[in-house]
Amino acid sequence: MKLPLAYYGNPLLRKKAEPIGEITEAIRQLAADMIETMDANNGIGLAAPQIGQSIRLFVLRRYAVQEDGTRVITDPYVYINPKIVEHSEEEESEEEGCLSIPKIRMQVSRPKRIKVEATDLEGKAFTHDLEGINARVVMHENDHINGVLFIDRVRGAARKRIEDELRQIKKKLGN
Ligand code: ZN
Repeated sequence: MKLPLAYYGNPLLRKKAEPIGEITEAIRQLAADMIETMDANNGIGLAAPQIGQSIRLFVLRRYAVQEDGTRVITDPYVYINPKIVEHSEEEESEEEGCLSIPKIRMQVSRPKRIKVEATDLEGKAFTHDLEGINARVVMHENDHINGVLFIDRVRGAARKRIEDELRQIKKKLGN
């Protein structure tokens, strides 16, 4: 089932989300609904606070390069209680957007490589070493479960330029 999105201005997006204890049938259903919601909105990642649940869970798809060089997106991954345990000193800047902040896209600087630990829907722990866009998506979603938005990582004149747009989003969509 496609779920309604929480938009910029919704206080849930600013809350530090709670860890998940037992992985119940309800959590499995929620993860499936989040994947459906992410895909329906053409997103590459979605965190639980974005659909109104303040718990430490996000879903995403990865970019992979095929043999012929074309970029495809992978099957979905589910991250429960994730923890970024290592990140590179080296950073890179790329454009980001967010389903909760429609139409705004900005350059955000983040570490190039990370190591992330999490639990999957079967309750099994896993570790992923990621870089580039795939690391970026994990960091963006991990920010969400800590109440942080990508626009918080943009400062100065660039951030000032979007203040009006942010106010409009909050007025029109903030729920
Ligand atoms: Zn987002």
